[in-house]
Amino acid sequence: MKRKELAKMTDKVLQRYLLWLPSILMVCAIGTSFINQQLFSNNLIASVITSVEEQYIAMRKAEVVERVDTTIKMLDVIRQSNGLADGDIIPTGLFNKTMNSFQLLNENNDGYIFVINKNKNFVVHRNSDNLFRDDIDDKVVHYIYQSAINGASWVEYSDKAFNNRKSDAEAQKITHIRYVEDWDVVLGSGELLHDIKNYSESEAKLVTDLVLDEKSNQNLFHILVFIIFAGIIYYLKNITSQKLYEYKSAIEEKLIQIEEKDNEIAFRSLYNDVTGLPNRKATSDYIDNLCLQEKGEEYQLQLIDIVDFQKVNNQYGFAVGDRILRQVTSALEELKDETMFIGHVAADQFAVICQKSVSLCIDVAKETETFEKFDICGEMISLRVRNAVVNFKNRNILGSIIVRNGELAMKYAKANNLFHVNYSSFMSKSSERHFKISNLLDFAIENKEFYVHYQPQVSTLNGKIIGVEALVRWDNVELGRVAPLDFIPIAEKKGTIGKISDLVLTQACNDIQSVSPNGEEALTLSVNISPNQLMSKRFVENTIEIIESTGIDPSRIVFEITEGTFLNDIPGTVAVIEQLKAVGIKFSIDDFGTGYSSLSYLSKLPVDEVKIDKSFINDLVEDEDAYNLVKSILAVANIKQLTIVAEGVETKEQSQILGDLACHLLQGYYFSRPVDVENLTKKIKDNLKVE
Ligand code: C2E
Ligand code: CA
Ligand code: CA
Repeated sequence: MKRKELAKMTDKVLQRYLLWLPSILMVCAIGTSFINQQLFSNNLIASVITSVEEQYIAMRKAEVVERVDTTIKMLDVIRQSNGLADGDIIPTGLFNKTMNSFQLLNENNDGYIFVINKNKNFVVHRNSDNLFRDDIDDKVVHYIYQSAINGASWVEYSDKAFNNRKSDAEAQKITHIRYVEDWDVVLGSGELLHDIKNYSESEAKLVTDLVLDEKSNQNLFHILVFIIFAGIIYYLKNITSQKLYEYKSAIEEKLIQIEEKDNEIAFRSLYNDVTGLPNRKATSDYIDNLCLQEKGEEYQLQLIDIVDFQKVNNQYGFAVGDRILRQVTSALEELKDETMFIGHVAADQFAVICQKSVSLCIDVAKETETFEKFDICGEMISLRVRNAVVNFKNRNILGSIIVRNGELAMKYAKANNLFHVNYSSFMSKSSERHFKISNLLDFAIENKEFYVHYQPQVSTLNGKIIGVEALVRWDNVELGRVAPLDFIPIAEKKGTIGKISDLVLTQACNDIQSVSPNGEEALTLSVNISPNQLMSKRFVENTIEIIESTGIDPSRIVFEITEGTFLNDIPGTVAVIEQLKAVGIKFSIDDFGTGYSSLSYLSKLPVDEVKIDKSFINDLVEDEDAYNLVKSILAVANIKQLTIVAEGVETKEQSQILGDLACHLLQGYYFSRPVDVENLTKKIKDNLKVE
């Protein structure tokens, strides 16, 4: 997670969950409480009104019934006081007198009664205008009269019909009726309910005000609780946010560390650890960028390789190796102009990229003091550098291809021991060849395509061939003749060198035993042992088995090893050598002098022979240094009583000088090229002599 995201997330949590959420909850709580209050009060008022109305109506009804009852009682009293029994007909005089007195009591009184006679006329009514009227609403009078006869006690009708009330609401009344048999009249009394609404509302208000007061107190209490609750939430929010910020800054700190690590990794993925220069990928990216720019410019990629750098590491340790790399870096930095790019593309390989119109690549041959001599704590270390140059235009080409071409050119230079090469497309072809060799090797082994040639070694004492070196040969239908230097390193990498070596050793032992059987004058047989092979599992047992199976005397055999064989593990190498020496096999250091510190190995390894490398023999005549070196090798070897072989002797002159220097054995084209066993037999018969 990025730091920005973290900050965003923290703010979101604080805002959304700790600030907004409680606030929304609060608003909801207060809102609900308010709505609740409103709803409650509305419902309460409605229900109180209803109940007050009901009670009021009941009360008024009771009043009416009482009035009617009292009147009936009064009629009974009047009847009895006039000496009339139940069922007696009321005399018209008494009837009229009684009704008149009732009328007087009733008139304009709201708590009135009315009486309807058998003719369905009002004989008593609060409004005297309605007495004995035929024009009033007959329907209503009939309805009242008939209802009473039928036993109904309550009727509803509008009072408007009789009393000129203004509205229906004002005329709404409840009426109690009774039929009084003795008097043959219908008696009734009603109450107007026009004041019921006001009465109920004012009554309800009194009640609800009381309840609502109580309720709003409760609500206030709730709001108070909410406020306390909100306070607690805000308090918790503060604590939580404080904690959250603490965690945030802790995480932020971790993220900063991660970011730093990321940057470091990104840096490491693009820059060399030791020199801080852009690495292979960054160099290739740089070329990619050049190719994106305006087209047409010409550039050069120069790869500079420190020859034998691995040996420095092995001999002096990585600290010294790193120092040399840094010195080379500073030298390059000093020589470069501002348009140049400098990279460090492999352990011991640097890259320089320059724009040809501005500058050409660094002439390392001129800068030998800078690139080839290193003062490490007072000890001078001399190295050589190799150059491979690729010319390119910034067309649509990939940086990785340009770098690869440089590497192919460098490989070509190494294989051919050249110190300056310009890339050419045939080098890619040689890399194709490399690929093909690798693919065809396994089949070639099974198909027994390998055979052996022998190059004689001649004694400087009598010019006689006293030994041969076995050299492997490979002819392939597709590839033609493949040089050992082309396929042996590949076979080593693929791990198939052991099979080839076994073939060579078996073949060579058999051939030489048949050309020159064991005996006093028998030829020696030198066999090349490749690096890694010596230390491989079962090398000792396997070798002894082969030699025994061919019957050759092991003391005739010399194993040639190079510095690469023993460099990494001298004690281990010594142990193997000792085991093979125990059965009589001798050992020789091949290519002597080319290694970094050859002379120093002489005292460490129990070898019997030294083969001075052909490069010294080549320079022997013209180069005094080479001459002196050969001389000193011979001197040391003589002291150690080692046999000295000079290889690559091509001229009479060389042969003579080596003879004068008392070199023991000579090998080279001057005497014979490597030949097959038939030709070797002939040469031995001819008893080739030194001229
Ligand atoms: P090396 O052991 O130094 O073998 C000597 C090489 O020098 C041979 O090359 C030989 O043909 C060549 N040579 C001999 N006399 C002269 C001369 O007067 N002038 C020049 N310029 N060259 C001369 P070759 O046969 O091509 O072998 C090259 C290398 O391949 C050998 O170098 C050796 O390291 C390796 N090699 C050859 N055969 C075997 C083998 O059976 N096993 C192993 N492990 N390596 C082998
Ligand atoms: Ca050799
Ligand atoms: Ca050699």
